[in-house]
Amino acid sequence: MSEAALRLTIFAGIFVAVGLLEFAFPKRPLRVSRWRRWGINLGLVVLDVVILRVTIGALAFATAMYAQARGWGLFNLVDLPFWAEAVAAFLILDFAVYLQHVASHAVPVLWRLHRVHHADLDIDLTSGLRFHPIEILLSMLFKAAVVVAIGADPWVVLLFEAVLNGSAVFTHGNVRLPEWLDAALRWMVCTPDMHRVHHSIDRTETDTNYGFFLSVWDRLCGTYHRAPPKRGHQGAVLGLADHQEQGKLGLLSLLAMPFSDAPRGRGADKGGSRGKAVGG
Ligand SMILES: [Zn+2]
Ligand SMILES: [Zn+2]
Repeated sequence: MSEAALRLTIFAGIFVAVGLLEFAFPKRPLRVSRWRRWGINLGLVVLDVVILRVTIGALAFATAMYAQARGWGLFNLVDLPFWAEAVAAFLILDFAVYLQHVASHAVPVLWRLHRVHHADLDIDLTSGLRFHPIEILLSMLFKAAVVVAIGADPWVVLLFEAVLNGSAVFTHGNVRLPEWLDAALRWMVCTPDMHRVHHSIDRTETDTNYGFFLSVWDRLCGTYHRAPPKRGHQGAVLGLADHQEQGKLGLLSLLAMPFSDAPRGRGADKGGSRGKAVGG
């Protein structure tokens, strides 16, 4: 099986599984019609995939192949058992993606791009794939830089990317998990309830729970938000405070969003008052 086919098979399996879970055990009623949001989110996904294909492609995987052939990067220089290198590379990559996400909130120009992900008024499995194309390209370049620095094995990179994509679909799922299962999973991985806090309109909640796959980084770095959102999972308003009108969140508006308006500063929504939310 080719690298691309393997990726697609793992992804499609997880997408269908989370889709069925959302259908059987939905967590929150949706504010916006699913079809309207899906058209926008999947439109953005298709655009991202096409732009990646015609530009840098599967750069992280290709970079890993290239580095391995030339003996570049930490793990190509030291002599460790394959399993130890694989586990270490996986952990380093997941931590790097966590740090990138923290930077996406803290650095104004990156936040402009990342806001497109946060502007979704509901979150479901398609939200996990909804990113501005420039953010996707920057992420791929960053991942490739980490891959070449550590000399990660190409198949570990492939597995990591597949797990990361699958996890993004899962953590955005509008899925109601039993509390005991959510609590048990959290010891290891991020869950939908954990990531929903990150999509709250309240910036003090948004700037927590940055993890995409493993939950350990939030716990270690002090960004873990254990409690539900202040208004509870059902009552929490999701999205950006200054973009609460679905009519202004079409595909073209999202593509233009990083260039079109001055986002509120970090901490601007502290206190979480819904009264500050303004339309458009
Ligand atoms: Zn974020
Ligand atoms: Zn998210």
